[in-house]
Amino acid sequence: MKDKIPYKIYLNEDEMPTHWYNLRADMKNKPSPLLNPATGKPLKAGELTPIFCEELVKQELDDTTPFIEIPKEIRDFYKMYRPSPLVRAYCLEEALDTPAKIYYKFEGNNTSGSHKLNSAIAQAYYAKKQGLKGVTTETGAGQWGTALSMACAYLNLDCKVFMVKISYEQKPFRREVMRTYGASVVPSPSEATEVGRKILAEHPGTTGSLGCAISEAVEVAVKNPGYRYVLGSVLNQVLLHQSIIGLETKTALDKYDVKPDIIIGCAGGGSNLGGLIAPFMREKLRGEADYRIIAVEPASCPSFTRGTFAYDFADTGMICPLAKMYTLGSSFIPSANHAGGLRFHGMSTILSQLYHDGYMEAVAVEQTSVFEAAVQFARTEGILPAPESSHAIRTAIDEALKCKKTGEEKNIVFGLTGTGYFDLVAYQKYNDGTMTDEIPTDEEIAASIARLPKVDA
Ligand SMILES: *Cc1c(COP(=O)(O)O)cnc(C)c1O
Repeated sequence: MKDKIPYKIYLNEDEMPTHWYNLRADMKNKPSPLLNPATGKPLKAGELTPIFCEELVKQELDDTTPFIEIPKEIRDFYKMYRPSPLVRAYCLEEALDTPAKIYYKFEGNNTSGSHKLNSAIAQAYYAKKQGLKGVTTETGAGQWGTALSMACAYLNLDCKVFMVKISYEQKPFRREVMRTYGASVVPSPSEATEVGRKILAEHPGTTGSLGCAISEAVEVAVKNPGYRYVLGSVLNQVLLHQSIIGLETKTALDKYDVKPDIIIGCAGGGSNLGGLIAPFMREKLRGEADYRIIAVEPASCPSFTRGTFAYDFADTGMICPLAKMYTLGSSFIPSANHAGGLRFHGMSTILSQLYHDGYMEAVAVEQTSVFEAAVQFARTEGILPAPESSHAIRTAIDEALKCKKTGEEKNIVFGLTGTGYFDLVAYQKYNDGTMTDEIPTDEEIAASIARLPKVDA
């Protein structure tokens, strides 16, 4: 017999959060500050405003304000595709024959196909409010570039996207969606920037990385008046905006008095996971409740599980500020796996600190087992998941299968960050049996760690 919880828990518009929640306010050990790579000193707001919008710099540096009001214009935009449903995965539970109760928060119900739109609209809004002409950015898998293009089209802002070359080639249709929304899209590394030309000279034939594309986008923002750079993950401000995912999830679960035992999210730069866990981590930090929180990363780019907690550059070109995070080293170029959104060498400083302090766990999973989970999910729950999201599915299934052995009726919540319609090359490889698992050797990781910048802090 099914219990009373519906397949989909929808919230009403008036139950949507009015404020984002800033996890840092409740952290005893704050994430370490960004450093100026030239001086080794913490960056001041004035040093960041040539790169980022003013209001976003304020949010980036704000370690104390717990709740920040969501401007009405952004809330109105959110209403076009939010609140997003929290789904009880009855069909998957049945297929797994598990006593566990599985829930997923589905963020793929908008044209960008991912949670990235939650921060894209916020960042574009503040750029518009500052009177800027446009923004520059990088995109890996293409979801962030698409989300930003949508937000910029809505607000009439110019949008220049540097797209990691491997994704540009694997996902030509992504590029067309972005162009349809009015963005210009350049494969990275490109000849269009100084740093792009330098990277191409050093690594001819490289398939690119998020780190390279970030360097190019920052260079263009800094060199063009009226432009600023925006980033779709990793930054504190992005986790702040993504807290809407967790806040809605908590409101939905509270309606039915469900307390999660395990909360699972895939982790690229950490934004969806940081957003999903935000209100739960708040209770955990304040000693009000306890949850197991699991970050899932690809075995091909294992920042948490095999990286080092140290100051590093966010970009390959080494022009960005230094952030203290779990990193594989900014010179680490992961193999061309199919979860483009998880190919970043570093991790959010907030999540890095929380992981370091023992508030969360991390696991690394291999690509073929991720796709096995993706296919099982697609066949039972009906949604074609993004490869990134499927990392969370893999671990949710693994945890549900453990419950099957022990008979425990745990509540498992995971973030289903997006859909995989633009990832059919990856699905094709899996279906053809030609997908491989590329796992870096200890030597490869050590070589890149050896090149970490020397910082005393
Ligand atoms: C970008 C992306 C991710 C990974 O980014 P995070 O900042 O770690 O959330 C995960 N899933 C999808 C669908 C994405 O587009």
